[in-house]
Amino acid sequence: MTASQAAAWAKGALRRLAAAQLEPTPANYARAYAEEAGEPPPGPDGAPPPRARAVVERLAMRLSDEPAVRGELAGALMAGRWDDAGKALERAAAAAGSQGEAWAQLIERLAKGLEQGGRQWTGARKRDSLARVLTSSRSDAARLQQRLAQLVGAWEGDQPDTAAAEAGDAGAAATPATTAAAAAAATPVMPEAPATAATTAPSADDATRQTLGELAGTVRAGLPAAEPRAAELADELAVLAGRLGAEGVTPALAEAVAAVCLRVRGLFGLRQELVDELLALAHSLTDGLAEVAEDGDWLRGQGRALRARLEAGASARAVRAARDLLDHTRAQQRKLADERALARDALRQVVQQVVSELGELGQATGRFGDQMAAYAERIAAADSLEHLAGLVQEMVGESRAVQTVVAGARERLAAEHARAGELEARVRSLEVELRRLDEEVSTDALTQVANRRGLERAFEAEARRRRDTPAAPGQARAPLSVGLIDIDNFKKLNDTLGHAAGDEALKSLAERVRGWLRPGDHVARFGGEEFVVLLPDTPVDEAQQALTRLQRQLTASLFMHDGKEVFVTFSAGVSAWRDGEPLQRALERADEGLYEAKRTGKNRTCVV
Ligand code: GH3
Ligand code: MG
Ligand code: MG
Repeated sequence: MTASQAAAWAKGALRRLAAAQLEPTPANYARAYAEEAGEPPPGPDGAPPPRARAVVERLAMRLSDEPAVRGELAGALMAGRWDDAGKALERAAAAAGSQGEAWAQLIERLAKGLEQGGRQWTGARKRDSLARVLTSSRSDAARLQQRLAQLVGAWEGDQPDTAAAEAGDAGAAATPATTAAAAAAATPVMPEAPATAATTAPSADDATRQTLGELAGTVRAGLPAAEPRAAELADELAVLAGRLGAEGVTPALAEAVAAVCLRVRGLFGLRQELVDELLALAHSLTDGLAEVAEDGDWLRGQGRALRARLEAGASARAVRAARDLLDHTRAQQRKLADERALARDALRQVVQQVVSELGELGQATGRFGDQMAAYAERIAAADSLEHLAGLVQEMVGESRAVQTVVAGARERLAAEHARAGELEARVRSLEVELRRLDEEVSTDALTQVANRRGLERAFEAEARRRRDTPAAPGQARAPLSVGLIDIDNFKKLNDTLGHAAGDEALKSLAERVRGWLRPGDHVARFGGEEFVVLLPDTPVDEAQQALTRLQRQLTASLFMHDGKEVFVTFSAGVSAWRDGEPLQRALERADEGLYEAKRTGKNRTCVV
């Protein structure tokens, strides 16, 4: 007899009692149960048969988690003490109610915790740890509740949780900083075996294949479809899932899966970094906008409110609010720009008007002067009016002075106008020149190594060379390794020694790298404190070794500052360029390696 059969007979027995409108006394129940199970009726004393106890205990177990309540309920039912059974049921219901409340509170804290970002516990770390706890404790509600409470406590304090570690979940409890190495070495937490293992359960290999298939789907869904690296890794996982189904779990396959998972984690980490950067960008834009906004108080107030909201963490709502503010400000600025254009046109018209009026005035005052002179002669001829004549002479003098002033002003205005025209033309030609220079120059001004444009040119030349040089029969094309270098803790160097020392470090490092390159290699400043090296005819593992050697050489000081030696280290990621792909793709892989190098302690080189 199986447990499910016994439960079915127990239900059937209750149904029989209801249909026959009999009281559920122990004797009646025992008889109905025997009929249902096709057994001989119970003895004349009416006590339930011993096997009924197992069924009653199972029912009690379903009704309560409390062993004491369970025991009391089963005992009362078996003995036919219906009042006691009723009381035990009430206690079970009350306990279930308080459990519901405890769960509701826990879920509320979890939801809040997931929304808020922390220093130790980033959003990605939280989701990761939650998934682990759910996977490993889902079969035991009490344990699940306890471990979730520990986890959410750790989030709330934004502290690594040692209590959770003691509870046996190293993955959920490790600090984010130490997780990288631990995650690489940790064996995956497998879900616990179900309490009653059915004979039809899938085999371990099937389950692993299915799990991997799920993981491949998650990688695909977790990153944008347009992200080729994600699709590539998901495909690799799908292939491995297929092989696991066919070949079973072998050490080699397990290692291959672990390697892909490591890269997946790297990629997710990069995405997380992208989110953090976007949030920082939202901060900067908000602050910047509030500063430059010309319509003052309202926008500044909005900016402050938004900053407060962004500080609470990377919620979609906060980012949406930042975008709304930007949209609004852009609309305001556009309006302002339109108004300025209108004002400028109006001003131009006024200036033209004044110039033309001045021209006319000049002519008019010239005529006026002539006429005044004629009048003056005529008035002067009138003998009886000497006094008046003197007066008129004065007027003539005055009008001539006015004429001189106006003519002078007109000349000056015309000269200014011509000069403004010249300046405007000069500015326009300078703009054109600058644009041309920007496009043409391929050297970084500070470090004197190639800039991005120079890098692009060097890469195009290398790619062309490979296209034009066919590989020897049976041989692969000559490899091209791409390395991305990022100075470690550069911000700190700037902060402690000053920006000029930072610039000196960039120059010295560029010089050091240039001296280390072989003829035919290339180095470029990729931006900020990042450099790219292109190493033709170098397999990726050699490139890694070479960069590692350079890192070891840098243990000597890089330059002197204020009479003190300054030491600088860098981290690097290396990838092998794949025939025909754009440089950007190889750089993305190298960036994953760089991210890995930073995560695992810096001053090292990782290959992707
Ligand atoms: P990590 O080890 O993780 O790479 O940390 P980091 O501090 O090097 O990296 P982060 O990206 O936080 O800081 C880079 C700093 O580089 C910030 C920026 O002010 C500085 N920087 C970028 N370009 C220049 C430059 O041309 N001159 C100087 N002096 N500093 C620069
Ligand atoms: Mg950097
Ligand atoms: Mg750096």
